[in-house]
Amino acid sequence: MQDQVISLRKQFQSELSSVQHSKDVEQLKVKYLGKKGPVQDLMQHLRDTPAEQRPLVGQQINALKEEIGQLCEQALLSFSKAELAQRLGEEKIDVSLPGRRNHLGREHPITHMMNEVIQILVGMGFSVQYGPDIDSDYYNYEGLNFPPDHPARDMQDTFYITKDMLLRSHTSNTQLRVMENHKPPIRIIAPGTVYRNETISSRSHVFFHQVEGLYVDKNVSFADLFATMDEFCDKLFQTKVKTRYRPSYFPFVEPGLEVDVSCTSCGGKGCRLCKHTGWLEILGAGMVHPEVLKNGGVDPEVYSGFAWGMGIERMTMLRYGIKDIRMFTENDLRFLEQFA
Ligand SMILES: [Zn+2]
Repeated sequence: MQDQVISLRKQFQSELSSVQHSKDVEQLKVKYLGKKGPVQDLMQHLRDTPAEQRPLVGQQINALKEEIGQLCEQALLSFSKAELAQRLGEEKIDVSLPGRRNHLGREHPITHMMNEVIQILVGMGFSVQYGPDIDSDYYNYEGLNFPPDHPARDMQDTFYITKDMLLRSHTSNTQLRVMENHKPPIRIIAPGTVYRNETISSRSHVFFHQVEGLYVDKNVSFADLFATMDEFCDKLFQTKVKTRYRPSYFPFVEPGLEVDVSCTSCGGKGCRLCKHTGWLEILGAGMVHPEVLKNGGVDPEVYSGFAWGMGIERMTMLRYGIKDIRMFTENDLRFLEQFA
């Protein structure tokens, strides 16, 4: 019986020495000290021992039991410490690693330009009004002095929904609504999306963005138009730019003008951006046609005004040297991430 105790101790020690992990120690403890384990088994067989040896053997079994328990506790403690240290080692922060950058969203270049234009004009005393994207022929064309079959309608290929309803081809559809609902003085801008039934190419798209402006009051003259456009261009290009006004034709203004600024890339000497003219065409403007004032319920004998419209895509392309308008809607992150 004493031999069995000795051999069990040796067996346990040998098994304990090959243990690698705290979980294995726990299993070993259960294996030896559990109800069906060898130590309990020895206890069961104590009664087979001659009576005079029983107290001694009993003590030896108890001592073994205690020893196994203690050795297991010690092993468990040292394994736990080592495992904790290892885990901390694996999780430690390497300060020499480059930081992980969070991917933040950013404004789309069109949104950015749109907001910038709005901010400049609001700063100049204009308030923001919105017109509907789906509108009647009247607000988009007829009321703006484009009678049916007027050739100027062909300048803008229009998406018609029904005979009388369409996707607005310009933000000018806001003009009459504002005049109908506000007495002069009127100083508004109308930003928004516009739609044209055009072949998509690097230079044209089926939808893009405009900002419309309208100023109606007593004694509004060309001088006010020039002063407002000049100030706007200086603020937009953040430098004193030269402006040039060329006569043009839009049915809702009389006379109409194209506004050019001196090329921001070459300063007017001529380069690829300005097609070697030294000028960049940036917006269309003009004095509001008396018929349009009348349609808006404004007396053209008392009031006068000017209006202008500009394409946000075009301005953004000029500023960043973007050569293809389709880039704005392709959602290619390599493109969009360049605009911090
Ligand atoms: Zn140039």
